[in-house]
Amino acid sequence: MDLDLQTRQRAAALGRQYQGAGTEEFLRAVIEDEFPGRVAIVSSFGTESALLLALAARVSRDIPIIFLDTGHHFPETLAYRDLVQRRLGLTDVRTIGASNRDRADRDPDAVLWQFDTDACCSLRKIEPLQAAISNFDALISGRKSSHGALRRFMPRIEAVDGLIKLDPIADWSPEQVEEAFEALDLPRHPLIAHGYRSVGCQPCTAPAGDAQDPRAGRWAGQAKTECGIHRAGRQVPALHAAS
Ligand code: SF4
Repeated sequence: MDLDLQTRQRAAALGRQYQGAGTEEFLRAVIEDEFPGRVAIVSSFGTESALLLALAARVSRDIPIIFLDTGHHFPETLAYRDLVQRRLGLTDVRTIGASNRDRADRDPDAVLWQFDTDACCSLRKIEPLQAAISNFDALISGRKSSHGALRRFMPRIEAVDGLIKLDPIADWSPEQVEEAFEALDLPRHPLIAHGYRSVGCQPCTAPAGDAQDPRAGRWAGQAKTECGIHRAGRQVPALHAAS
């Protein structure tokens, strides 16, 4: 059977099986039972990332966690990644990025973001992620429907180009997130104190202030609201390798 169709059927079956399951029950099931050794977390180590990582660490501190180092992150984010890793005892944080050769060929002066943010996100995020996930069947991320825009109607489980995408805290409200941060005594991203409510790359992130959409500071002034990594599935070569 075609891998894409197979994955869509699996996503639908998982949706039926875990409908109504609590977040921790769902996380334990996908990490231990459904995709043992074949699931990773993609984390930006942004303002709310520590919550999903803490919940996952209760199941396994050894789950692979992929962090895309675009070369344009705030230094505070890199320091926060290290702090969260230490505090939660995460053993397998994988920092990946574009190869030196690709950067030299396509963005030698690191200014592509000024002219073509889609091309920059492709070079520095989407392509490195696609290369890193060929050994996984499922990816977990911490997107939430409360973040609005394209995320408002997002499902907890979906299939994208041969990969299962899982968002265990998709339906958490901002109040639940805040309560959990307090209850679990999780460290806060240092840029929250400076008005940032969602943090990505430095050139493409501004403080969101009191805007209703916490991601309003991302690519502010552009139609772009997502970098595209959550639509990244398997590359064609990986498909061939698996067949
Ligand atoms: S968010 Fe901005 S700087 Fe980061 S990869 Fe995308 S365009 Fe480039």
